Amino acid sequence: MAQTTKPAGLASARCLCGTVRLEIDVPARWAFHDHSAASRRAHAAAYATYVGSWRKRFRIIEGGAAITRYDDRACGIVRSFCAHCGTPLFYERARSPHMVNIPRALFSGRTGRQPLYHLAIEELQEWAYTGEPLIPLKGFPGVVWQRSKKKKRPDREGMF
Ligand SMILES: [Zn+2]
Repeated sequence: MAQTTKPAGLASARCLCGTVRLEIDVPARWAFHDHSAASRRAHAAAYATYVGSWRKRFRIIEGGAAITRYDDRACGIVRSFCAHCGTPLFYERARSPHMVNIPRALFSGRTGRQPLYHLAIEELQEWAYTGEPLIPLKGFPGVVWQRSKKKKRPDREGMF
């Protein structure tokens, strides 16, 4: 066994319905936020956070028969998802054949990497939550909101 880095442990991932179970050796290679339109749509979310794993350190533990693939030829990306519940499971890029990217949200435990990197940050959506202070919404327990900073100042029009 000629491994360059000795795995420190395992991280387990699963889809929403639990049919598909995945596993990687940790630490993962890296983790990142992807703001590209393709990942935004594939996840139906503001952006997607991924853990990048070496393919040889990635395993499908259960539910392989339930995995459906979508070949996005325009992007050169093959996306796999659970045919039962629709959860995005991982994506593979033709130009990075040794890597598999798994949504960070599928892991319940630590993956050994913090998502410090951003792809396509120029596509960050103005409606994405980026950590602004939040306050409780009166009369709606469990709901918080961000007071709008955008105040209409029509009085400033024509000032300059
Ligand atoms: Zn599923």
